[in-house]
Amino acid sequence: YSTATDIEEPINPNVNVNYTQLLINGQFVDAASGKTFPTLDPRTGDVIAQVAEGDSEDIDRAVSAARKAFDEGPWPKMSAYERQRVLLRFADLVEKHNDELAALETWDNGKPYEQAAKIELPMITRLIRYYAGWADKIHGLTVPADGSYHVQTLHEPIGVAGQIIPWNFPLLMFAWKVGPALACGNTIVLKTAEQTPLSALYMSKLFHEAGLPEGVLNVISGFGPTAGAALASHMEVDKLAFTGSTVTGQRVLELAAKSNLKPVTLELGGKSPFIVCHDADVDKAVELAHLALFFNQGQCCCAGSRTFVHESVYDEFVEKAKALAMKRTVGDPFKQGIEQGPQIDSEQFEKIMKYIRSGIDNGATLETGGERFGNKGFYVKPTVFSNVQDDMLIAKDEIFGPVQSILKFKDLNEVIRRANATNYGLAAGVFTQDIDTANTLMRALRVGTVWINCFDVFDAAIPFGGYKMSGIGREKGIYSLSNYLQVKAVVTPLTNPAW
Ligand code: ADP
Repeated sequence: YSTATDIEEPINPNVNVNYTQLLINGQFVDAASGKTFPTLDPRTGDVIAQVAEGDSEDIDRAVSAARKAFDEGPWPKMSAYERQRVLLRFADLVEKHNDELAALETWDNGKPYEQAAKIELPMITRLIRYYAGWADKIHGLTVPADGSYHVQTLHEPIGVAGQIIPWNFPLLMFAWKVGPALACGNTIVLKTAEQTPLSALYMSKLFHEAGLPEGVLNVISGFGPTAGAALASHMEVDKLAFTGSTVTGQRVLELAAKSNLKPVTLELGGKSPFIVCHDADVDKAVELAHLALFFNQGQCCCAGSRTFVHESVYDEFVEKAKALAMKRTVGDPFKQGIEQGPQIDSEQFEKIMKYIRSGIDNGATLETGGERFGNKGFYVKPTVFSNVQDDMLIAKDEIFGPVQSILKFKDLNEVIRRANATNYGLAAGVFTQDIDTANTLMRALRVGTVWINCFDVFDAAIPFGGYKMSGIGREKGIYSLSNYLQVKAVVTPLTNPAW
């Protein structure tokens, strides 16, 4: 770890914080209460800026603006081609401001700047263009029905969408939410995570520059139990989309059910198996298992956090996985070449350290890491455990940190049973050169995504979501459109049945 001194002297981000208020009806405004809260730099724990703290009164104001923009238009009523052009202009602006957006994202979240600038922002631009492409291709069907009727379906926007996003990918989650919702002609009230409010405000400013009418996209910074709960339980919100922890997902689903039964899509936690078979290309598997777990400081809902390795290649795999983790560059995420920045905040940091202690106490072998990195901010050394058993906490709970757990297996049926023995079902990685093994695992695993000899492939067209307690519904691709559309059946008698 050659970069420890960089933590002492954080690099100055090349961007200003210009937007800290709530965005309601196209205007930046203070919270009704006048309250603010600090957003922190995970590199140091220092305050970056004070941000307006939205609460239920602000959610009310934002929902009224979104309601009016939906009911009176022009957004849902304007031509799909016009909506498409707004989305395309927005994508161009995101591309133009790629580096400032990435800098803001790194500052507020702690992720490596190169990751934000070269991977995530381009993915966002691509995804917005993908949904722009859908805007003018959404239409209903003509349905052959018994009797003398002409039957058609209209695919209409669902109305005001409430969207609640997490802190691990603030801008990417913003894009996954607003892309399909806007392409379908809805209006939005989006609540960002309290840890990372900054980048979505900048992004929304660009949306208005691109010609988005006022009130169509409202962005509220604030906390979950106040602003988030107010949004989930609002009677004038027609649909709720949430990404976050499974426990909070259960809460918002309950709030939605108790208020107006708004349909809810949920993208929740995971404990994804990454299965390395005896015939896998071990070097490639080690490299991708490393990426699957350590990417984004391990703060990914789909992280490959149970690395199952066949006994015949286990020792080799563990040695190589350990060597790779020890080589991982940790330090100031603004520094070139840094692969791992700090965790998001002290709460997550403490939680991760607690899991590491439990791994040691339960008798897993700590191969490397296991402690804080540096003496400031929320850095954790890349950590690898081997000899992990299924009943250990580190093999059961979502750690959401840079802690790889390597388990051993003997045969295929055994690993299928163990991989599926969890309430989660978000994703899985499968490493084998054998087509039959790949086919068997692909069909047997009860998860929303199976990556075979690859991992973390997130093309805009590929649906993403969970089985079991990892969620309800799918985001991205064609599948997310149905989250934001109502289907209206229209039946007309035919007066001249001969035709
Ligand atoms: P984490 O524990 O990783 O912060 P959460 O699921 O609590 O994950 O947070 C994800 C998002 O859900 C954040 O925007 C957060 O503010 C919001 N949130 C948290 N609690 C609630 C709640 N009770 N109702 C609505 N939203 C909530």
